[in-house]
Amino acid sequence: MNCPACNNEMKALSVTGVKVQACEGSCGGLWFEWREIKKLKDRIAGAGAVLLHVERAEGVHIFRDVQHPCPHCIHSLLYRHCFSREFHYEIDQCAKCAGFWVDVGALSGLPLQSPTEKDRQKAAAYFKNLFEKNLKPQHLAHPDTHEAAQTIHQLYRFFTPPTLFPAE
Ligand SMILES: [Zn+2]
Ligand SMILES: [Zn+2]
Repeated sequence: MNCPACNNEMKALSVTGVKVQACEGSCGGLWFEWREIKKLKDRIAGAGAVLLHVERAEGVHIFRDVQHPCPHCIHSLLYRHCFSREFHYEIDQCAKCAGFWVDVGALSGLPLQSPTEKDRQKAAAYFKNLFEKNLKPQHLAHPDTHEAAQTIHQLYRFFTPPTLFPAE
């Protein structure tokens, strides 16, 4: 399966039994099929934190202004739920197969254990932007976007160390 953003061949990973395709060595993006996402609610917070350390190449541009094709369905385009130029994240979903594409952007590379105060501040600013600025209005907008916002919360809960995840 090739990366929808940079066309690199992605690597299949299994993290606590959740299968993920990772764009290792290039843009660092992650692809989750819908059936894998459904497993997340049974996983402990931060179980997938290793995914924040997928190796990325410097300077790979993923053209955020362009819609990406679904890596599974090929002929359908991914729908963009949210993105940030400031924090370099992007979260897309396929309208056909419901798979999720996530580029965690500025969250990548944060330490899995013993984060410094600076790391905490970086994560707090990131989540403020993602959850309060981007997702909170979506929660209220429509049942579909409400469900997507909940899924995005589950995804981030899975791959963010609990020490860096905002308190509920
Ligand atoms: Zn890529
Ligand atoms: Zn699809």
